Amino acid sequence: MKFQLVVSGGKGGVGKSMLCSVLAMLFSRKKKVVAVDCDVDAPNLAIWLNETRNWQKIKKISTSSKAVVDYGKCTGCGLCAEHCRFNAIKMEKGKPVINPFLCEGCAACEVICPQNAIKLKPVKNGEIKVKRTRQGFFLVSGQLLPGETGSGKIVTEIKKEGEKFEYDIMLIDSAPGTGCPVIASLQGADFVVLVTEPTPSGFSDLNRVLEVVNHFNIPYNIIINKWDINADLSKRIEKWAGKRFLGKISYDKNIFKAISNLTPILETDLKAKKEIEEIYQELVKRIN
Ligand code: SF4
Ligand code: SF4
Repeated sequence: MKFQLVVSGGKGGVGKSMLCSVLAMLFSRKKKVVAVDCDVDAPNLAIWLNETRNWQKIKKISTSSKAVVDYGKCTGCGLCAEHCRFNAIKMEKGKPVINPFLCEGCAACEVICPQNAIKLKPVKNGEIKVKRTRQGFFLVSGQLLPGETGSGKIVTEIKKEGEKFEYDIMLIDSAPGTGCPVIASLQGADFVVLVTEPTPSGFSDLNRVLEVVNHFNIPYNIIINKWDINADLSKRIEKWAGKRFLGKISYDKNIFKAISNLTPILETDLKAKKEIEEIYQELVKRIN
């Protein structure tokens, strides 16, 4: 069995990584687990697991290309600067100078150059890290370097790295939103756990990511985190979710104290720990 379970939810800060960290630890007691952090703009699964140090493998990867000028061929005609829609090329002293932070790798300059003097070259703009956790399962994480693009591609590469391990269950911590990294996280998933909070923005973002989940036709369940900050809205979401409602987690400011001390929630005696353990038991029944 190779099962991919994605923890997603639309809005940021709803508790995806916390839930994913506890589920990874619980599943690893009985199954071969690989935990994959696909939130490449803010990877924090390692923090929730207290696994931020001693990465065993760090590899640089390329998810995009940038334009490079061969000044030996360039005649300084300026056509490339005229046609760059991202204003990444400025003519200085009759020669084009490319700003790598603005270059989107669209290749318009390469196509337009009459001298064949511009070529796109792949750049190492991200890294993927791998380690074995104290519980024995592997954790794969990755991120783009500051100012770089290609977050969907790096998620695909991170998942490929996770696939190199033998596993029964791959737990994927998805990015917030509905963009490329989320779509790449959801591709190939067998089940999605959607986490929300009882706020208008949390519920609205849940509905948006649900459109993507339904597009891929992936079965899903819903969890309400911090349900008691708005019990009325929680009840309405629970009713709306119907049989797809999986469970709820209470708000507790001690969760933030635990994370600031790098204490995994499963190693605390907080109410959230017991609530997620119950959610886990129910989840196991449902995915089986
Ligand atoms: S289009 Fe080509 S030849 Fe003209 S300035 Fe740009 S690089 Fe140089
Ligand atoms: S590849 Fe596109 S964005 Fe980059 S410099 Fe050329 S035209 Fe501009």
